[in-house]
Amino acid sequence: MFKKILIANRGEIALRVQRACRELGIKAVMVYSEADREAQYIKLASEAVCIGPPPSAQSYLNMPAIISAAEVTDAEAIHPGYGFLSENADFAERVQKSGFEFIGPTPEAIRLMGDKISAKQAMKQAGVPCVPGSEEALPADAAEVQRMARSIGYPVIVKAVGGGGGRGMRVVHTAAALAGAVQTTRSEAESAFGNRAVYLEKYLQDPRHIEIQVLADKHGNAVYLGERDCSMQRRHQKVVEEAPAPGIPRKLINAIGQRCAAACRKIGYHGAGTFEFLYEKGEFYFIEMNTRIQVEHPVTEWITGIDLVRMQILVAAGHKLPFTQKQVQFRGHAVECRVNAEDPFKFIPSPGRIARWHAPGGPGIRVDSHVYGGYFVPPFYDSMIGKIISYGDTREQAIARMRTALSETIIEGINSNIALHQEILADTGFNEGGQNIHYLERWLEARHH
Ligand code: ADP
Repeated sequence: MFKKILIANRGEIALRVQRACRELGIKAVMVYSEADREAQYIKLASEAVCIGPPPSAQSYLNMPAIISAAEVTDAEAIHPGYGFLSENADFAERVQKSGFEFIGPTPEAIRLMGDKISAKQAMKQAGVPCVPGSEEALPADAAEVQRMARSIGYPVIVKAVGGGGGRGMRVVHTAAALAGAVQTTRSEAESAFGNRAVYLEKYLQDPRHIEIQVLADKHGNAVYLGERDCSMQRRHQKVVEEAPAPGIPRKLINAIGQRCAAACRKIGYHGAGTFEFLYEKGEFYFIEMNTRIQVEHPVTEWITGIDLVRMQILVAAGHKLPFTQKQVQFRGHAVECRVNAEDPFKFIPSPGRIARWHAPGGPGIRVDSHVYGGYFVPPFYDSMIGKIISYGDTREQAIARMRTALSETIIEGINSNIALHQEILADTGFNEGGQNIHYLERWLEARHH
């Protein structure tokens, strides 16, 4: 087992990984930008290294600074968390070449899955159903692009091959709007991801976002750990997640889960990963794979009793998965609310000093957050300041506990989206379960301020 791991991230996930390290008796080295110097989780670490000024380009995305931090502290492995460099194949490669273990899949697997076209091709070959669309990146020839869109059938969605984080996508309803949409998405993709390549997919009208968690070791073993329903989205970003997905027959989940696990074995995947699908009228359509731990991993941890971050570390250290697919048991229901420092009505980010913070507790409540009263939310990063996760024997109980938890939560000094979560948890449609990816946006439009 590793003696020392460097955590190349910040905020709640950095603390989450640090907790897993401490539990395993591993020393955790934190890296931090000047904006995060005062954070409590930095003080809890065995060692901490400042890697640069606040902007992430100069700190959390600064590969040489992170690798030299690992060198000077004698860390053996690097955990990338999510976001930042977590899905950067070049980073994983540099980590390996510098003699460290990258806690995640191989650079080749990251590269294959990071390109959405090659990912879809690989999944198709592995027998995973995909959203119908262009098999290749779009050519420059406008007439050819028109032909491709016509054969897929409108509406279509133009997507960046290197896209992520819900950006670089555009829905097109008519042939007349196609060329312009392709052009705009190309230039957006170029500036956001450094890759002009775009492709077309059939735009599914009212799907749900259902994803499958997988876990694989370096010895050819791979399991799926059930699904998460992440259909409650705003601007393609997840707001509330839950597991299991209400109303989807277990038979269908097991069938698609087995295909995902088989795909992992086929491409030599190891570590934790997520296959994202759109689900419509009883069919799953693969859209992309995330080759890292996800924000919403706690809901899966709760219904399976499996610590995913611990497993990532064990697998990276060469351990075999300590259980088989048959031994994976699903129990109860879990819901996660992402707590953001933002206006609950206008969604304007709200960084600043947290004057008062009281986290909820009690049976079936887990809070993953690095913040506390007096903590300063820096303006440089994502607005998520934590997650509240609830568990119950039934979905109703998990939701009831979440409602209580939200009512106990006190966040003062900055704005937070707790009030939004309270409204969602009180909504009839949410309580029915099984809503599609447009539900929250439509509900937000209709809501009275
Ligand atoms: P990202 O990598 O940016 O997260 P994804 O490909 O995972 O992009 O898509 C994010 C979200 O965009 C999905 O959860 C879904 O809401 C919407 N979306 C993506 N592709 C389609 C599609 N073909 N039809 C309908 N909605 C889509």
